[in-house]
Amino acid sequence: MSSILVVGSMAFDDIETPFGKSNKIIGGAATYIAYTASYFNPNIQLVSVVGGDFPQSVIDDLEDRGVNTEGLQVKKDEKSFFWSGKYHLDMNSRDTLVTELNVLGTFDPVLPENYKNADFVMLGNLSPDVQRKVIEQMDNRPKLVAMDTMNFWMDIAREELDKTLKLVDVLIINDEETRQLTGEYSLVKGAKKIFEMGPRFLIIKKGEHGALLFHGEQMFYVPALPLEEVFDPTGAGDTFAGGFIGYMAKAGEVSFDNMKRAIIYGSAMASFCVEKFGTQRMVELTQADIDQRLQAFVDLSQIKLEV
Ligand code: AMP
Repeated sequence: MSSILVVGSMAFDDIETPFGKSNKIIGGAATYIAYTASYFNPNIQLVSVVGGDFPQSVIDDLEDRGVNTEGLQVKKDEKSFFWSGKYHLDMNSRDTLVTELNVLGTFDPVLPENYKNADFVMLGNLSPDVQRKVIEQMDNRPKLVAMDTMNFWMDIAREELDKTLKLVDVLIINDEETRQLTGEYSLVKGAKKIFEMGPRFLIIKKGEHGALLFHGEQMFYVPALPLEEVFDPTGAGDTFAGGFIGYMAKAGEVSFDNMKRAIIYGSAMASFCVEKFGTQRMVELTQADIDQRLQAFVDLSQIKLEV
């Protein structure tokens, strides 16, 4: 079975949506990615950092799901990363209210020996400097390195981000971030500019409007499943990334066709994430839930048509 190295934040989040307020709950990019990918490939190697305030029960739960936490640093006397955000009425856009890096501010990742040959790498949202340090410690070039990032890092660490992008195969960002990164309104022109920065594949998430995959001149689109209830979109992007990398690792081979399937898996997993606050929905899924949701995606967009 292929291994997946997952890097990213583990956090406390404070979330406000038009439907309610969460108070301090568990979040973080790596948390969502690891929980989600564990449904596809239990051989997951986690790299992150938390403070002494982070519940051991969450770490134990991840381990029970097959996530190796040897690469998780626990800084007993420090505080975990804290993020707070408030969603607008459309639930597609949000304002970041607070970002307290805490342990993340000085994080120096150290890869355990048995992580250094991972087949697939998912660089979750985190300082681009840390993302690069992880890649540089690997013994062999992985089959696929995918990376997520956000406007926060484009604003404060653009040079570092450009260096990291050179080492990455797949960039996963949203439409607004694509425009900020490239200065292009057209996503097609933006994709071409991103290919010059390093990645060979670009995945653009468009929230409730689905996701686009670009590779050379090829394009593929997956809709988002229209849902009756959306409570909290936090982590949907990370869950998408977890489903994407989880499927790719399960498939084993990097091809455009597998990547098309992987973004359907990513979209299906993300559609669960938004149904409850925080990671709540992502810890309770069954294989039958996932199969049903994948079928809903197939039914949503497939029709026999002769051209
Ligand atoms: P998403 O909704 O997919 O963009 O992910 C939201 C998650 O990202 C939350 O659980 C936050 O804890 C985490 N997050 C927010 N800002 C940052 C940041 N600057 N670096 C790392 N993680 C972050």
